[in-house]
This record gives sequence, structure tokens and C-alpha cells, in this order.
Amino acid sequence: MTSRPADLVRCPDCGALVPDVDGPTHAYIGGNAGCWATWGELQARAYADPALAAVMPLAVDAYAAQHHGAEGRRQAQSVWVHLASLCLVLERGWTPREGIRAKQRLLAHDPGFDWLSPPSDPGQVTVLDVAGAPADEVASAVRAWATSVWEAWSAHHAAVRALAGTVERR
Ligand SMILES: [Zn+2]
Repeated sequence: MTSRPADLVRCPDCGALVPDVDGPTHAYIGGNAGCWATWGELQARAYADPALAAVMPLAVDAYAAQHHGAEGRRQAQSVWVHLASLCLVLERGWTPREGIRAKQRLLAHDPGFDWLSPPSDPGQVTVLDVAGAPADEVASAVRAWATSVWEAWSAHHAAVRALAGTVERR
């Protein structure tokens, strides 16, 4: 018989078993308070870990795309630009920092993004896998997470690639 510790709860977006806490969540990125708290701890760890800091923009894309939240204008915008960044970094070799600039440019010319129906399977990798990775593996864990999330959204790859193709690399 399998049982679940009483103090864990499943994140509705990524499916991770996270602490069942009361706490803040993001205004439009989805997930529950426990997942958001786990994400916050990872961000804090990046301040003291240059290898993690270098890939944190990619982790932001993975977290935001995996936590699409409920249908809405800002949610749609968030998912589109973070997926475009995942596409540029993972498929076209852009650096995570170039991905940030791509997002800024996409948001500056926001055409009004349609809601993309989220995947029923959010992928097997979550923020917990990155948070639990040892220091020398955390950067590759972020990349594995980003790849998993990008693959989960495969139904929309063609549309996202088309959007990503409109961004100039500079
Ligand atoms: Zn989550």
C-alpha cells in the first residue's frame, strides 16, 4: 500500500508533491503555495551558486510554461513568451540571457496572445528535481526540466516556433 505524508499536496499544474503550506502564489503563474515556495528556495539558492544563476532564466521559462494557470490574458501571454524562449534556447542555441531579451521584445509588441490549451501531461520533471539536485548537477537538471516542459507542449511547437522565428537575435 502506498501512502502519502499528510503534509504534502500535489501541485495542480506540475503534479509535484509539495509542502501543504499557506503562502503566496504568483499573480498569474499557476501552481499552489507549496510549489511557489519551492521555486522561491531555488531562486534564493541561485544567489550563492553561479552555475545555477547562469541557467536560472531557463528555469524561469520551465516553471512559467509548466505552471500555465487558468485561462486568461496574462496567463496566455506568459505561456507564449516563455515557450518561445524555451524554443530559442533549446532548439536554436540561444543563451538563456538572449532568451530574456527575446521575451522583452515579444512583450513590447504584444499582439494579444490566444490561450494555448495546456498539455494534459505536464512532463515528468518538476522544480523538485532541480531543487534536489547536488550543486554539480543542478545546471544539467535545469536543462532536463526545460527540455521536458518543452516536449510536453509539443502540440503547439509549430505555432511557438513561428513566433520565435519573428525575434531577431541581438
Ligand atoms: Zn508546480
